[in-house]
Amino acid sequence: MTNERRIELGAPSLGKEEHEVLCKVIDSGWITMGQRVAQFEAAFADMHGVSNGVAVNSCTAGLHLALVASGIGPGDEVLVPSMTFAATVNAVLYCGATPVPVDIVSVHEPHLCLDDAQTAFSEKTRAVIVMHYGGYVMDMEKWKKKCDERGVLLIEDAAHAPLGAGVGLFSHCSVFSFYTNKNMTTSEGGMVLTNDDALSVRMKRMRSHGMTKSTLQRDKGQAFSYDIVELGYNYRMDELRAAMGLVQLARLPGWNVRRVELTAHYRSLLAGSVVELIFTPDHQTCAHIFPVLLPEGTDRENVMASLLEQGIQSSIHYPPIHLLSYHSTVLPERSLPHTETFAGRELTLPLHPELSENDVAFTCQALLSILTQASRQEDP
Ligand SMILES: *Cc1c(COP(=O)(O)O)cnc(C)c1O
Repeated sequence: MTNERRIELGAPSLGKEEHEVLCKVIDSGWITMGQRVAQFEAAFADMHGVSNGVAVNSCTAGLHLALVASGIGPGDEVLVPSMTFAATVNAVLYCGATPVPVDIVSVHEPHLCLDDAQTAFSEKTRAVIVMHYGGYVMDMEKWKKKCDERGVLLIEDAAHAPLGAGVGLFSHCSVFSFYTNKNMTTSEGGMVLTNDDALSVRMKRMRSHGMTKSTLQRDKGQAFSYDIVELGYNYRMDELRAAMGLVQLARLPGWNVRRVELTAHYRSLLAGSVVELIFTPDHQTCAHIFPVLLPEGTDRENVMASLLEQGIQSSIHYPPIHLLSYHSTVLPERSLPHTETFAGRELTLPLHPELSENDVAFTCQALLSILTQASRQEDP
């Protein structure tokens, strides 16, 4: 059976409005770090109830900036998930600090495990980075309490969870991604939120080489020269991306609602089947992706290839960081059994706001029939 249908894993929602604002920025003649970046920072921070936003050119840059501007450096340890994208861990490595991988709670709750974190803490621990896997929001008050007790910083990798309930409110910094496949996009881009005004000032300086005066200030004749007061980077966002970000941000609440609706539809169609669902149906989520667990022992690559034959893209979130060739040589060794089991069974099904209920039903039918055939072939 061949099907003309093509169901993409994720797809950016882009339209006329993005087109128009991008043209406007080009016509304006000022294309980087200007009023639109400032507006985007203010709007994004405001919608999260946080006082400062620092726009950057990626979430990876934002994570690095948050850590380095908070004084994390060589000799320090930072607790991190292994069930995440490499950027979470790499940002710690860029600082010369040591990322210490921590296990997830369980295969049905792939969030950083507080009990395992307790055993990973040492005198050198300076921060914990939590990641809202799949958009499913972590219990930040619980983590805030624990981090305060230990005197360490709590940082959120919120790449999956823009506008998640409570996201940004309890942490030292929360960091977001506007990469193409995220809940909202500026094609490439990121944002750091913090309630610490001094940290925000420092991050804004460090994202532009540690310079004391911005290009805009110099253009306005408010400054003729500049000084560099510390080592900085080029992590700036441009006006084009900020303009696009403002358009996307206005649509984000609606898109998140649609993602949650589609997730509920998936759950209703897969409930009681051989496919195991993760988290609980009422867990607060931005539904960034739709991850499920395949039955133990399933040949996952075969399933993914069969889905693709029917036009359905799928993916894996994530190969665990501690098992990657490079990272296995630089991370301290810790036993992460739940992470490894989860990583071996996880499959991510298509989810984005432009998907229809029919697409979801078609995907579920295809997956279940592939799994039924696979289990028949295994029977002697
Ligand atoms: C996408 C992603 C990042 C990196 O975002 P960039 O903007 O591409 O740097 C970091 N962490 C997680 C969990 C992500 O999904």
